[in-house]
Amino acid sequence: MSIRPPVWRTTYNQRLISVRFLLLSDIHANLDALEACLAAVPPCDVVANLGDIVGYGANPNEVIDKSRSMGKLFVRGNHDKACAGIADVRGFNQVAAAAVVWTHHTLTPDNLAWLKALPQGPLLLTPLDDVQIVHGSPRDEDEYLLVSDHAAVSAFNTDVSLTFFGHTHMQGGFFIANDKEQTFRPAYSSTDGDVRFEMQLEKDGKYLINPGSVGQPRDGDWRASFAVYDSDQHSVTFYRVRYDITRAQERIRAAGLPERLADRLTQGR
Ligand code: ZN
Repeated sequence: MSIRPPVWRTTYNQRLISVRFLLLSDIHANLDALEACLAAVPPCDVVANLGDIVGYGANPNEVIDKSRSMGKLFVRGNHDKACAGIADVRGFNQVAAAAVVWTHHTLTPDNLAWLKALPQGPLLLTPLDDVQIVHGSPRDEDEYLLVSDHAAVSAFNTDVSLTFFGHTHMQGGFFIANDKEQTFRPAYSSTDGDVRFEMQLEKDGKYLINPGSVGQPRDGDWRASFAVYDSDQHSVTFYRVRYDITRAQERIRAAGLPERLADRLTQGR
């Protein structure tokens, strides 16, 4: 992937805008999935990371090192908080809790300190003043936006018209305008191979968009997910890319992490 030096352009009203944001979420220490995504990404100006960088997968240090090298825009996820030791594992199932303990003890002191210091969302993608990133929802970093009712209620808690969120590991999102809510998912041309789907955004209304999970998709599709927002075109392109899932599973088993964490990658659940 190539991260271009940011090309800030001046619009007619003298506001600075960026061109392309790479949106990564829920990498969950899956280095093989992250590397496959980065190999498929078109040139981007800025990387925005929506949290849950670690937890579940076997390469937390490598994934943090890579993420840190790509940019500075991060919000923390619930697994980041737990692995950093600043939140307990209440609400985590046994498998997730085991991964938290393993990750906490595997992180280098430097990466642990970095993880602890990650900011809570929402975070505006400055200099854009109408686009933000969150982990869960605009009103609660730990809220799951699964159905349009949740999304609509949460959207009332923000004036920002475009929110990128993660947490659910489901690619797609919600559009709220004139008291109507719509749910959308990218319509890909194939269920295998590497695919992309471009969506032109409307000017009025609010969007809540999930780029999908890089490292542990749960929408029934095992391929790694990410999205690119083009602020100039006001469009979002969703991606699904294949990665070496066998290798990621071998690493999970070699680390002594629960077998379920390897299995679920194949199922995309
Ligand atoms: Zn997650």
